[in-house]
Amino acid sequence: MELWQQMVRDSVHTVDQLVNRFKIDRQVAESLNEFFQVRINPYYLSLIRYPGDPIWLQCVPDIQELQDLDAAEDPLMEDAMSPVPNITHRYPDRALFLTTSQCGLYCRFCTRKRKVGDSEKISMKGLEAAFNYLETHTEIRDVILSGGDPLMLTDVMLEKILKRLRQIPHIEIIRLGTKMPCVLPQRITPKLVEMLKKYHPIYINTHFNHPWEITPESSKACQMLADAGCPVGNQMVLMKDVNDDPVIVKELMQKLLKIRVRPYYMYMADETKGANHFRTSIAKGLEIIDKLRGWTSGLAIPHFVIDAPGGGGKIPILPNYVLHYDDEKIVLRNYKNKVYTYNNGSQTTKAKKAAVKNNGNGNGNGNGKSKRGAITRKVVLPELTEADLN
Ligand code: SF4
Repeated sequence: MELWQQMVRDSVHTVDQLVNRFKIDRQVAESLNEFFQVRINPYYLSLIRYPGDPIWLQCVPDIQELQDLDAAEDPLMEDAMSPVPNITHRYPDRALFLTTSQCGLYCRFCTRKRKVGDSEKISMKGLEAAFNYLETHTEIRDVILSGGDPLMLTDVMLEKILKRLRQIPHIEIIRLGTKMPCVLPQRITPKLVEMLKKYHPIYINTHFNHPWEITPESSKACQMLADAGCPVGNQMVLMKDVNDDPVIVKELMQKLLKIRVRPYYMYMADETKGANHFRTSIAKGLEIIDKLRGWTSGLAIPHFVIDAPGGGGKIPILPNYVLHYDDEKIVLRNYKNKVYTYNNGSQTTKAKKAAVKNNGNGNGNGNGKSKRGAITRKVVLPELTEADLN
């Protein structure tokens, strides 16, 4: 047995452990464990600094999970968009391939609580139908292995899946959606990365939510993946009392870049049953992006998205940088709330006529040299107040 497998076995996972270690009332602990089972491996457990801290909140069950009675189990309608077991096909050229129900840690905010941990619901029996679907749907060029966590599979099983996918000519990209580099970095072994190298291009989507998760162990895991030629991206979920703070998010994003992980998405938490107590406001998300953009490298800024309820897919949202826009120009504010005007590159007929009349050449800049549209005019105005921007 490999070290990481032993660590999974050594996880906190029983009602007795919940009662004794976290002082949860026995009846509540039983209900919580039945609703969504507990698994906290010794590595992630060691990251907790005090009760109720951002690590604790992500992994220790809370009675609020049981009070969320009206919410949907599958708000993203993944099951309705599943043409065969184990596949969700929502976007035109890519598909989600669920390969296991198991995870190295069961996150209390998980959006797939309905399936995760239940081997009947994501079963290996469905793999053949899934492969057949991927083989016959030639529009699919990008497959995301998920679950559960595909790195809970043994190297041998994972290699079988990768080998089979690589025999499908139209599949260009394989992505692994895995939380292991963050929650159980011991899973990233030299043997695993040597195997992955054979099936490039392999991309990794991982899932850090808080700077305390960046440790020597998780840093090493991410760097091993990067050294093996796997670009690693991070999907963070915005969660109340975990990371709903621009200072925390900035620190996380900057630390991720240092371990060669590119911030990719920052999600609003899904409206999933048993996880709504993690949700925070959209205004908070916009504030966080506003305090990143311009204040740190663009590399450190994730796309802020809402995964639309009802299966609409990820929809990006941005703070309002556009103050005015018409055929001729756009008026923008920058990160310091200074206002700038950019003239439209493809001038309207009216603007072109005006330019010809004024300059006699139609280039719009009066010197006859540039072939581009009117020169951008930079207008610096006094700082705007919040009220001006609303
Ligand atoms: S690792 Fe992913 S799938 Fe597993 S419990 Fe956490 S969020 Fe859910």
